[in-house]
Amino acid sequence: MVRIVAITFEQALASVLPVVRIQGVREVPLPDVAGEILARDVVADRNIPPFPRAAMDGFAVVWTGRETERPYRVAGSVNPGTVWGGDPAETDCVRIMTGAMVPAPFDTVIQIEHAQFDRDGSVRFQTPAGRGQNIAREGEDVLRGAVLIPSGTYLAAHHVATISSVGRWEVPVYERPTVAVLSTGDELVEPWEVASGPMIRNSNAHFLLAALNGLGFRKVRYLGIVKDERETITAKIREGLACDFLLVSGGVSVGDVDIVPDCLAACGVRKILHKIAVKPGKPIFAGESPGGGIVVGLPGNPVAVLVHFSMFIRPLLLKASGATDCFPKPILLPLAEGAGNKSGRKKFSIGRLVQKGGETRVVEIPSHGSGDFVSACLAEGVFEIPLGTSHLPAGEIVRFYPIWGNFLSHEG
Ligand code: AMP
Ligand code: MG
Repeated sequence: MVRIVAITFEQALASVLPVVRIQGVREVPLPDVAGEILARDVVADRNIPPFPRAAMDGFAVVWTGRETERPYRVAGSVNPGTVWGGDPAETDCVRIMTGAMVPAPFDTVIQIEHAQFDRDGSVRFQTPAGRGQNIAREGEDVLRGAVLIPSGTYLAAHHVATISSVGRWEVPVYERPTVAVLSTGDELVEPWEVASGPMIRNSNAHFLLAALNGLGFRKVRYLGIVKDERETITAKIREGLACDFLLVSGGVSVGDVDIVPDCLAACGVRKILHKIAVKPGKPIFAGESPGGGIVVGLPGNPVAVLVHFSMFIRPLLLKASGATDCFPKPILLPLAEGAGNKSGRKKFSIGRLVQKGGETRVVEIPSHGSGDFVSACLAEGVFEIPLGTSHLPAGEIVRFYPIWGNFLSHEG
């Protein structure tokens, strides 16, 4: 028997990531950029603020340090978006609104709350002023030419605000890779078909399609279910290899009908790894297609598919899409209850968050076996139990990766 050596999860990712090719660049209009990955730095086209800007409603004065000693004549008024071009005397001030350009030679704004009008319309200040107060200096936040959003950023709505403010409309973003999804298994029927006797419904493919859609992958090809037969699997794999990614579920383990790795080899796929020291989903396969695409063969266990998609496949897909930050970011949180790991491998448990006494804790969702997709519904993320750790007591801090769902909604 050929023994396949399992590498660590980190080694596995490190061996596939360098093979992933980044796609080309296209331009999209600003309203469509949320969910895309920026392909060129967004740079400040002006200083920010672009002019000395009043930070308060009040009066602009030329600072002397004697502001409280004499009345000031109000020589004019300046609103945001307007320019005041008078020639003020030393005891003149102008009324100014937040956001307006502070006209020269004024250098200080005294807020309205510190001013009192005399009968003749002149104004007196009750509080001494500091030179330059209540004015945001030109370029104080950012100088023209500074990078505001680096290329490779996964763009969301708040980035749209920044891109708008520098006057960009057509935005260069990375093309997404094309992805094919294939399910293998004699036991599978589609959700719209009758499942009786030994048959079960194909949930993996539909999870993968939904997850891809949620990440913004639109060029996705669903290849359906194939029986565990060499010719049929091989034919479908050939179709799928036309895409940049091919995700196959089932048939990669060591059972008699687990023939996917053989079929992939027959199609010229170069094996990068087969087996990772991780639970669930140890017999995962990854390879490179003759055209330079990535092929991942997932074990059929739906929880393994959930976990591997989020922890393993997602970083690969994001890298192919040009993202710099490909890895899910862990939050360090305490466990609400103890959690075990009998596997001797790194364990990715699915968990949810509970809030008790103002503290957020992680609860492991018990898995009753590999096909536990019912309890997986409760999952809000994945947390790690490190390799070599068989038990973590309640209160132990774990790395929790928030992945699915409205994960801060639970009380109790
Ligand atoms: P396999 O990795 O092909 O040996 O599959 C392991 C188990 O995962 C099967 O016995 C099924 O219970 C389950 N399974 C396989 N493929 C799917 C699928 N597409 N959807 C849901 N469950 C599956
Ligand atoms: Mg199978």
